[in-house]
Amino acid sequence: MDPVEKFLKTEIKIPSPPAIAVRILDVVKKNNASFGELAGIISADPALTAKILMVANSSFYSLNSKVDNIQRALSIIGVDALKNIALSFVIAGKMKGTPEGGFNFDFFWKRAITAAVGAELLAPMVKHRSDDTFVTALLQDIGIVIMFFCRPEDYSKVLDEKKAAGLQVCAAEKQLFGFDHQELGAEVLKRWGLPESIYMPIRHHHHDSPVPDDYALQTDILLLSDDVSSAYHGTRSTSKILEIKKILGEKFGISDADIANYIDSVAEKSVEILSSFEIDPGDMKPYSQILLEANEELGKLNFSYEQLVLELKQAKEEAESLAQDLKLANARLRELASRDGLTGLYNHRYFQEAMARELSEAVRYGRSFALIMFDIDHFKKINDNYGHPRGDIVIKAISQTIMEMVRNCDIVARYGGEEFAIILPETELVGATILADRVRKSIEALEMVADGLTIKATVSIGVSNFVPKKSPNKKAAMIDSADKALYDSKRNGRNRVTAIDTATT
Ligand code: GH3
Ligand code: MG
Ligand code: MG
Repeated sequence: MDPVEKFLKTEIKIPSPPAIAVRILDVVKKNNASFGELAGIISADPALTAKILMVANSSFYSLNSKVDNIQRALSIIGVDALKNIALSFVIAGKMKGTPEGGFNFDFFWKRAITAAVGAELLAPMVKHRSDDTFVTALLQDIGIVIMFFCRPEDYSKVLDEKKAAGLQVCAAEKQLFGFDHQELGAEVLKRWGLPESIYMPIRHHHHDSPVPDDYALQTDILLLSDDVSSAYHGTRSTSKILEIKKILGEKFGISDADIANYIDSVAEKSVEILSSFEIDPGDMKPYSQILLEANEELGKLNFSYEQLVLELKQAKEEAESLAQDLKLANARLRELASRDGLTGLYNHRYFQEAMARELSEAVRYGRSFALIMFDIDHFKKINDNYGHPRGDIVIKAISQTIMEMVRNCDIVARYGGEEFAIILPETELVGATILADRVRKSIEALEMVADGLTIKATVSIGVSNFVPKKSPNKKAAMIDSADKALYDSKRNGRNRVTAIDTATT
């Protein structure tokens, strides 16, 4: 036996069509169906009458005058359309309630009614003329409700399978029931006496089996109506909208503006129709408005993002300025660490580093440089005669004088107590000796005033040099030579300059 037939035979809970629906269908099937007979059946149900008049007066039909009775509604909307509206209400009304298992009927019908509105609005756009469109789209998933009614636990498993294994709903249904909701829905509607124009498109609305040519357009409408409903009520709105745009644009040549209008009006009309079905439309609003609101939210987000960037920029600038201060402080600290406290000249440690640096560069670039070392003559006596503090003043005054005589690139250091050194980059021995003598003469001429006393002093100077490829590549050799020359100056009577050429010794 066919699984659908078996299911329908053995399941006791198979719903019978609502009595009023049967009567409506019976009347309409008659070839000579009269307006009066149909109006009589509907009018006997005041609640149904009120609902139908609500729909007839809704913007859905855009009628010019108000419709206040079923007779008038019939003459304007037509027997078939009215019959279908009536059927929709009757079936959707019956298939409600809250059976065990937690099937959300309100949500089901909200989706179904939105699909029905979507199909009805779409039909004229794709040039399909039929009064069945609304009810067909509305009932396309009726098989799901029936399956759920009969075997709620199994159908919950279908939904779990769909979620967990990512199965298409029809495939999951076939696995658990042996048939899908298209087959069951079509069969039930057929047995209820609904026309082929309704149950055949439903039988194929998922496009997973070859669609008879006669129903191709209807099944396209059903597929699109399901997409537009999913766009409003599902979680993958964007992809559904894109699919609608693709199919309507490419297959039916509908313009982007018309598609956007269509999608918006589905929401607008659905809100009206949902309330006539007594289903809360929630915050359903046109897609363009959803996008607009999303953009506004995004705008707010961008604003705070810009603020954040601004604050970060300020923080970065502050940090940078702090880092700059720190850099300066560090440089100052390094400078202090390499300076002599009394004179402000470079200290001995710095002198040694500078000599090493200068020598390695002179070697690498093949450059000459010179070293002057000098020592204050008989300084012990100055201290003894004028006092230690005045001795300090003498040391400072001599340092100042030297600083004023050298180039920026020259490095003047306090080598020891009253002993000094000058490193002269890119300087030959002859030039260094000339400078050394000018230093000697300047100091000799200096009249240093300390606490009201004028003090005079002389210095003994030694000069040495570095000549690439000729001098030894050792700073100690150069310092020793200058020191030896200085000693020679002392030995030879002081206040004089002696030079030793390391290139020749
Ligand atoms: P010479 O001509 O041979 O160099 O004789 P000198 O007296 O200069 O040499 P010596 O090395 O015998 O004495 C150096 C003196 O310099 C001894 C030391 O007390 C003094 N001296 C060293 N550093 C300072 C200083 O910072 N301030 C003062 N006031 N005196 C210092
Ligand atoms: Mg001395
Ligand atoms: Mg000395």
